[in-house]
Amino acid sequence: MTKETPTVDMEKIVSLSRRRGFIFPSSEIYGGLSSCWDYGPLGVELKRNIKQAWWRAVVQERDDMVGLDTSILMHPQVWAASGHLEGFADPLVECKNCHLRWKADDLTGDSCPSCGGELTESRQFNLMFKTFMGPVEEDASVVYLRPETAQGMFVNFQNIVNTTRKRLPFGIAQIGKAFRNEITVGNFIFRSREFEQMEIEYFVKPGTDEEWFNYWIEERLNWYVRLGIKRENLRLREHSKDELAHYARSCIDIDYLFPMGWSELEGVANRGDFDLVQHAKYSGKSMDYYDDETKEHFIPYIIEPSAGVDRSTLAVLCDAYDEEPDKDEIRVLLHLHPSIAPIKVAILPLSRKEQLAAFSKEIHADLRQHWMVSYDDTQSIGRRYRRQDEIGTPFCVTIDFQSLEDNQVTIRERDSMNQIRVPIGELKNTLKAKLEGEDLFVLPPGGQIWKQGE
Ligand code: ATP
Repeated sequence: MTKETPTVDMEKIVSLSRRRGFIFPSSEIYGGLSSCWDYGPLGVELKRNIKQAWWRAVVQERDDMVGLDTSILMHPQVWAASGHLEGFADPLVECKNCHLRWKADDLTGDSCPSCGGELTESRQFNLMFKTFMGPVEEDASVVYLRPETAQGMFVNFQNIVNTTRKRLPFGIAQIGKAFRNEITVGNFIFRSREFEQMEIEYFVKPGTDEEWFNYWIEERLNWYVRLGIKRENLRLREHSKDELAHYARSCIDIDYLFPMGWSELEGVANRGDFDLVQHAKYSGKSMDYYDDETKEHFIPYIIEPSAGVDRSTLAVLCDAYDEEPDKDEIRVLLHLHPSIAPIKVAILPLSRKEQLAAFSKEIHADLRQHWMVSYDDTQSIGRRYRRQDEIGTPFCVTIDFQSLEDNQVTIRERDSMNQIRVPIGELKNTLKAKLEGEDLFVLPPGGQIWKQGE
């Protein structure tokens, strides 16, 4: 089912992102800051739509999940308990000549890949960003920027049990920033030092953990497919025993065929009782759960589906990117699923003449109550369609002089370029139905097929 050759070059995605305002290098006027990125006007919409789709699937539509938003700075003991102070380190070597640092695991030879210089012995390098809380820079005030959102959910386990009356199995979901002082970064937003995670901690009765582990793998894989990602560009990869993180009983990566090859999009881990046992030990607080039915006390096991917002954003961009011959040019388009497209509808009046502009702006004002809708009245209609295709806008509404007479407008669909003509009174409901997946040629009362293709 899966394939081996990526369909798009990273340069094309970087260039489109830059050109159209999806993603810019951070602090670009100062030459950029390595591995940090800024999401532009379209990028912020796309990213927010992805987060909303996730939240909807894992919190809004479920009885067994609640949301949480915990702080980035946490008590330093959290990181002692979690194992991050000890274990969250990569072996690193430094070139004695050019002083570049390299991940020991990534090196094939024993000299510097950049200048060929001699390398130092490998040393452990902690990936957590360290800072100070309060006015005094001393050891006692050291705090860390969280390297994952997960710990905020573990330490709030009892708060959730006590305040929500949730019984096992149930889960907590959180979206938020995480920071890792990664040694090697790159591949655009795939690996950065500041990134965003969408994590679930799902608490289950020991013994039922493998069943729930498998359930979540399936559930999460399907979510990417529902987001519009092609199944053949996704695969599951099981971690071998010696690859498993210190906390994990088993782990499966959901990989995407990125331009640089198969790489992790999301990890689903069976963490057993590691986290709650550790926090009980370090905090002195009980992490027991009381099962009213069996009258037993036990520490739940945790299944963790942990996804990256930035990696999902990159995956949907790569997956949606397409180029089609268009007379002497190329039509670049993003086949984004309507639910995540940054702009849902573009209003395109055929002329800037006062009468038509007033009429079109009224339609714009009405539709923007419901969706992100853009208005474009510059250059030829063909150019304007191409501009919308390139950013993945599913529908364009074209308004012409005839619209002033017959109160009808044209809806043009991005992928097929087919067009229908509908009465204004039917426009909003028709767009709503199409955005939810209805075929373009299912017509509202008074509607007609206008044009097939372009
Ligand atoms: P990798 O092996 O690629 O470094 P990881 O196994 O360390 O990733 P996890 O600790 O499992 O990653 O983090 C969960 C998710 O968070 C990953 O699947 C990924 O989507 C995201 N993520 C982790 N590190 C980064 C990063 N540096 N930049 C962007 N996203 C990241």
